[in-house]
Formats: sequence, C-alpha cells, structure tokens
Amino acid sequence: MSRVYNFSAGPAVLPEEVLKEAAAEMMDYKGTGMSVMEMSHRSKAFEEIITDAEQDLRELMNIPDNYKVLFLQGGASQQFAMIPMNLMKNGAADYIVTGQWAKKAAKEAEKYGKVNRIASSEDKTFSYIPDCSDLPVSEDADYVYICENNTIYGTKFKELPNTKGKTLVADVSSCFLSEPVDVSRYGIIYGGVQKNIGPAGVVIVIIREDLITEDVLPGTPTMLTYKTHADAKSLYNTPPAYGIYICGKVFKWLKAQGGLAAMKERNEKKAKVLYDFLDQSSLFKGTVEKKDRSLMNVPFVTGDGDLDAKFVKEAKEAGFENLKGHRSVGGMRASIYNAMPYEGVVALVEFMKKFEEENQ
Ligand SMILES: *Cc1c(COP(=O)(O)O)cnc(C)c1O
Repeated sequence: MSRVYNFSAGPAVLPEEVLKEAAAEMMDYKGTGMSVMEMSHRSKAFEEIITDAEQDLRELMNIPDNYKVLFLQGGASQQFAMIPMNLMKNGAADYIVTGQWAKKAAKEAEKYGKVNRIASSEDKTFSYIPDCSDLPVSEDADYVYICENNTIYGTKFKELPNTKGKTLVADVSSCFLSEPVDVSRYGIIYGGVQKNIGPAGVVIVIIREDLITEDVLPGTPTMLTYKTHADAKSLYNTPPAYGIYICGKVFKWLKAQGGLAAMKERNEKKAKVLYDFLDQSSLFKGTVEKKDRSLMNVPFVTGDGDLDAKFVKEAKEAGFENLKGHRSVGGMRASIYNAMPYEGVVALVEFMKKFEEENQ
C-alpha cells in the first residue's frame, strides 16, 4: 500500500488512524456482525454513534446549550436555499461576497427574497477580505451571510463582520474545526464535511434555537425545514449514517490531538512553512493579501501558465496530488487541512525548491 500526499480541496485527506479504524470495523462493527453501512439507523449501535458524534462535536467547539447540531444531507449547496427559506421572515438578507461560494449563495437566496450585497472583493478577483467593521447593514435584513474561509481563493475572515445586531450566518465548510470559534457569535454555522471533517454526503448545521421555527417561507419542503430535523434529532428520515460514523471518528481523533486550540497551533505552523517559502521564492508567489491568508487553502502561481502545468504534472509524478488550482483561477492550490501532516507540507516545499532551481 502506498499513500500520496493529497492536497485536494475536497473531498480531501482524512486522518490515517481514522481510515484504519474504519477498515478494521468494516465487516463487524463492535460485535454487531455487520458494517455500519448495513445497520438500521434506528438501532442501538447507531443511536450511540450519532449521540457520541454530537457530544464530541459539542465538546470540541464548546457549543452552547441553546444551539442544535444537525447532521443533514444535500451538501453545503443545499444550505444556500435552506437558509433563506427558514430565516427570511422579512424577506431580506445581506450578503458579503468574497468568492464563488458566497456569490452562489447570494444568487440562490434571490429566489426567496431581497438580497443586498453589502460588500464584495470581486474587483480584485476575490484576493482579499473587505473591511467589514462598518458596513451598511440593512434595517430589514433577517441575517448577514458570509463564507468564512474561501476555499477557491484562499482568503479567510480573521475578524467576523460587524453585523450591527443582525444574525450572522457562516459557511465554514473549508475551515470547520481548524481552530477554536465562539459559536455564540453566530446564528448558524454550517459546512459540508468533505473538506475538513469526513466523507462527502454530510453537512453539519449548528443553529441557535430561536431560529428554528415553523414560520418558514410558504412551500418550504418538510425536508428543508430545520425544525423537522431538530425535532427528530437528525433522524427524521435515514441520515447519511456511514458518513456520520466517520465524522464521529474524526471528532475523537481531534480530541486526542488536543482539541481545536492544538489544531490551530499545528495549522499555523504548517501554513507558515508554505507561506514563508512563497514570500521569498523567485518563482512562486501567493495570490492573496497577506493579512487575509487562509490556513487551509493556499493558492499560488508562477505567472506562466505552461510552467504551472509543468509543475502540477511533475508534482503528481513525485507523489503530490491535486495541486491544480480551481478551474476558475488556474495556477496551483495546496489545501492543507487538519489531516495533512506537517511532513507533507515540508516535503512539498522541498519539491518546490527543487523545481524552482531547475526552472529559473
Ligand atoms: C465545497 C464548498 C461548498 C460546496 O459544497 P457542496 O457540499 O459540494 O455543496 C460550499 N462552500 C464552501 C466554502 C466550499 O468549500
């Protein structure tokens, strides 16, 4: 067996310990004689899996009691509709557009109400986070929406926007559990787990209880109503059971690593190796403003499309996979999520140094 260093933006690298455990339990989960994949979601064994997963996530993120944790399906993209359907009581919301995912979310929300784009960084290809300390937040906005870490462009909000009392909703797909957060500052935190937590197919929604109501937009499907899932503890219908099981293992792995404060330290140390190299390289350069740099997604370019392609090809041959930048920006992107080991980033930088020498 040989494993590559996988820099994919998502689905992405998972901790080897977790994969090994899952492999060991594949045929017989804890004496049940079956795989978690084959098990009733109403069984005692699965009930324990989902209850433990929620409990461990609550501990990791220090989630206050007045928030519900929902394990849903449909990916992060389904939340682009579910959020306005459930929250747009006044029929209006403010969006801060810092990349393709926020842009898509804003466009989707327009189907359900008035969308005000109160800030954007599109003027400079989303290479920075706008100053959000004093934005023209709309009087009637039901919420203010951000994408906290921009997976494609490699920027991250280092400070949350001043929402002037309005509910903050954040897509944290690509920075979920990468550092401690103060959950109480958000109305909703949500993310697809396939970036930094688990297998595609699960989306986790952490939502303040007062936002869970029956008063949703007319025509909202039962399955797209938060209350349905909150009341049923994410077991209204068959949940993505195997995915939740793997997420649960990753939560335990994170706890064993020392929790989110320890992860933040590790992620900072890891990202620094790559950013420090980019800052002194004569060939490669980072594409975003330094103050807004993501710890998770690091885009870079040589400035020459052919050379970029050559780099991606040679890197792949050397065991560094998925370094090609997103199709909308080109160049390269190294996603260095929680499960990417420090050694992986060091090895990548060594490879980049060698490529630089050979291609001056
Ligand atoms: C990947 C990603 C999405 C889309 O996720 P899906 O689960 O494929 O719908 C949305 N937001 C962010 C920030 C992402 O990184």
